[in-house]
Amino acid sequence: MNNGLLSIIGLDGISWPLISRLNREGILKNYYKYVVRTGLKAINICIPPITPPSWNTIFTGVPPEKHGILGFSKFFKKDGNLLKGFYSSLDIKYPRLNEVLAINGLSGIVFNYPLSYPLKGWYLKNQVLIYDAFSPRRFIYPKSLENKYIRYFYYGEYHSFKEHYEALHRVIDGLLKIENNLQPDFLIAIFREPDNLLHMHPWIMTGGITNEWLIKIFELIDEFIKLVSRRYLYLSTVSDHGFHIFKKAIHLNRLLIECGLDPSTLYSEDLKTMMLNFISSNVSFYPYLRFLLISSKITRENYRRILKNIAKFLGIREAPTSHFKDTTKDYFMDQYDPGDSYYIFFTKRELRDRCYNQFKRYVRVCFKDVEKIDINGIYVLKPIPYGNYTFTFIKASKITKLIVNTFVHHHHQYGIFTLKGSQTPNKFHIINNIDISPLILYYLNYPLASYFNINLPIVQDALKNRDTKNYKTIWRIKRKIFWKHI
Ligand SMILES: [Zn+2]
Repeated sequence: MNNGLLSIIGLDGISWPLISRLNREGILKNYYKYVVRTGLKAINICIPPITPPSWNTIFTGVPPEKHGILGFSKFFKKDGNLLKGFYSSLDIKYPRLNEVLAINGLSGIVFNYPLSYPLKGWYLKNQVLIYDAFSPRRFIYPKSLENKYIRYFYYGEYHSFKEHYEALHRVIDGLLKIENNLQPDFLIAIFREPDNLLHMHPWIMTGGITNEWLIKIFELIDEFIKLVSRRYLYLSTVSDHGFHIFKKAIHLNRLLIECGLDPSTLYSEDLKTMMLNFISSNVSFYPYLRFLLISSKITRENYRRILKNIAKFLGIREAPTSHFKDTTKDYFMDQYDPGDSYYIFFTKRELRDRCYNQFKRYVRVCFKDVEKIDINGIYVLKPIPYGNYTFTFIKASKITKLIVNTFVHHHHQYGIFTLKGSQTPNKFHIINNIDISPLILYYLNYPLASYFNINLPIVQDALKNRDTKNYKTIWRIKRKIFWKHI
């Protein structure tokens, strides 16, 4: 039995309504018993509700504008050209919680952290790092453990719930073996399953779950929570965002037209890539399902129409699959999942400012707020919609209304957070994802970071007689030295 200090279980895409729904159906029983009934609970407000920015906000304690991860794709200027690429661990500008704990002398295991690749982005003293689902290659750090355990870890394409269950079973086995072996001070494990499954089967949110293997997937995670809750003094569960069926959408194209822009330029490549992604990679998780989807007459007809519509005013060529250069557009969005993107990137400041003024007019109509941010010569607009709204784009030429009725499932900005351990109050709070790292460090009694922007009353009071450390500076130096000696 390990007497570790802290375990954090990440449940990608889980929300309170979903937890209570699953509990009503008798799934996640242990989670209820060991976590939900005791300790601190919170609605965790995640803005933007996209996986890479949100997890990195949770673990750095600073907002995306500071840690640098704004979505899946990054836009940057090089030799006067505007380029697009994918974020990596090297883009993260602040230390993550596991690194802060390592600076304080703790040992740990980190599993499936979004943007784990490459290793050089991390300070890994006394830690094991197991690759994540976005990583371009499979790895375990240190190498000696990779040879021994990599066979347990494979997140690939699953042909059925059963196959998915078996893969997750192996992953959890491997994780527990490493954990047993090393007896670390902390364990951070992120499960992408809820998000993946919800994207493909949104009926999980509304209807009963009848598939036995799907139930077993949730039971595996539930069992893992039970095991871990006994081994660590503090147990936290957290999600990077929730999931929601939206009935209202803000038509972003209509707003851009109001700004004097032609949104068709925005979506020429991006929307097409998104559509192709949706048809292929989004469901590639279950090739059998993809086959059913693509071969269904309704789907084919729907996509034929959508693609025809796009083709009508844009013209369809081969879609870019990875890094590509594009100097023709003045503004961009993350093509990976624009429905959740809260950032619009502009190449010219005046253009962004003009749009900002126009967007501002809809604050308190459909936006809570609109922010302007400048990042590395790119000008960014961040509209924050009210919780019941998502964004929509298609058919820019025929838009008359700003708010349109819709019926889509998407990430939602309300996630979960729980913390159980000595002295954690049994209360419900509303917090922001930037508050999670400070809160955990506070309860573990470690110095808080000097760069934290703490809004939480429970932590704020205690701060008056608390040490702070500039972990960022320490981290940069320690990481450099660490890799020099390896
Ligand atoms: Zn996510």
